[in-house]
Amino acid sequence: MEAREGRRGPLRPSFRLVVCCAAIALALAPGGAAAAIQATRPRMPAPLQALPGQLEPRDSLLAAIAARAIASERVVSLALGLVDSIGARLSGTPAGARAETWALAQLSDVGLDSVWAEPVPLRVWERGPADITVASASALAGRRIRVAAYGYSPPAHRLNVPLVDLGRGDPAALRRVRQSASGSILLCDVVVEELVQEAAAAGAVALLRVSMEPGTLIQGRMAPAARPPAPLPVLATTLEDGLWLRRQLAYGEVRLDVNVQTSLRDGEARNIIGEWRGRAAPDEVVLLGAHLDSWDLGAGALDNASGVLTALEAVRSVVESGRRPRRSIRVVLFAAEELGLVGSRAYVARHAPSLARIVAMFNFDMVGRPDGYGATGHAEGDTLLAGLTRHPSLESLALSPEVDHGGGAGSDHQPFVLAGVPALYVRTSLAPETLRWYHNAGDTLDKMDLDGVRRAAAAAAVAAWAIADAPGRVFRHLGEKETRELVRRLRW
Ligand SMILES: [Zn+2]
Repeated sequence: MEAREGRRGPLRPSFRLVVCCAAIALALAPGGAAAAIQATRPRMPAPLQALPGQLEPRDSLLAAIAARAIASERVVSLALGLVDSIGARLSGTPAGARAETWALAQLSDVGLDSVWAEPVPLRVWERGPADITVASASALAGRRIRVAAYGYSPPAHRLNVPLVDLGRGDPAALRRVRQSASGSILLCDVVVEELVQEAAAAGAVALLRVSMEPGTLIQGRMAPAARPPAPLPVLATTLEDGLWLRRQLAYGEVRLDVNVQTSLRDGEARNIIGEWRGRAAPDEVVLLGAHLDSWDLGAGALDNASGVLTALEAVRSVVESGRRPRRSIRVVLFAAEELGLVGSRAYVARHAPSLARIVAMFNFDMVGRPDGYGATGHAEGDTLLAGLTRHPSLESLALSPEVDHGGGAGSDHQPFVLAGVPALYVRTSLAPETLRWYHNAGDTLDKMDLDGVRRAAAAAAVAAWAIADAPGRVFRHLGEKETRELVRRLRW
């Protein structure tokens, strides 16, 4: 690095090129060091050395793959289609089905060898109209409170129900007011499963969570319950309306009329899958995953059109190269992530006998601007991944060579990790003001960083190619004991 920084003038780009090519050739090329030596070329006139056309075939292929993703104009029409035209798409709903049809068409359009759908049985939850107003006995009668039901919440229809404030909502607070909880709506800041169970057991009418985020926003969330439906209606209101209710409670009793409609039925969604067959070991797979579904309060732009577009553009840039890596690259657009990782769990269960042939899975969920790679609990790919961050194809992304080995739970990589499959990601960052729109009505196309998506797709495509084309497996699967240890270490 210092040596490179020390070079000046026209020599600098060419020197950088040679260093990068050598490093990447060592990491990637069949034959390792031998191929790296082969990669030494006769000196070219300085100005030509920096041209992509002067790269080794493997390097120029990666450069072309990355360039295709970085320059993609298709992300705009993809975003318009999925976010603006289809928009909110809870799995199992008509909009969810439209998104699946759209995804099948997009994968077919990419030109993959095979595109198919796998059924995902699920309990389909849909929200209907929701209304809470101050009951008629009050001087404030008719005042409307903004409200949205939690996912898998049952409906609530009751008039003239007293409101009780549990404060933060610790189950201990509920135990203190157990008498008055019966027949009441319980106001709280946090909803945990124990509170849901105790509130139901105490005979409460509903839980009403106060949102943390200012700006009249309500987040889509799942009711924390072992299985749908939740044992009592779990609702959320805005921060502003929640604080207003608390101020009224300071003066005296507040009674509310509640009319929140939801429906629950057995149904089906689909994981949408497409594959680019490997040339030498097609049964071994690098999987690019992203959830297709979204919460229904926004349009599912950041969460997770950003991930879907990243996976689509990554595989498209590989396919359009016309070349095939040794192993297959498979895109899986999962159903019902928001309903509890339903689609990825179904995929792992269905493909249990062949999971050992997934050499790595990438998960893309809420993609921002890429700044490096991550491999949850796996360091054996660090040389390759760090090498890629310095590769000329990704130079403009200025990725960090530090590979992250952590990773949270709660997205579609989780069932794979639990099954011992190496889970990777392109580390990306979203601006804090963007995170504000998580799961709420503000998650619309205008919040998307489409250039971030293009760049993440480039980083994903290059890494997917490198891992799929490596002579041997770069990552190893973990056994049950190692997986338990990893999960403990990550505090999942
Ligand atoms: Zn998501």
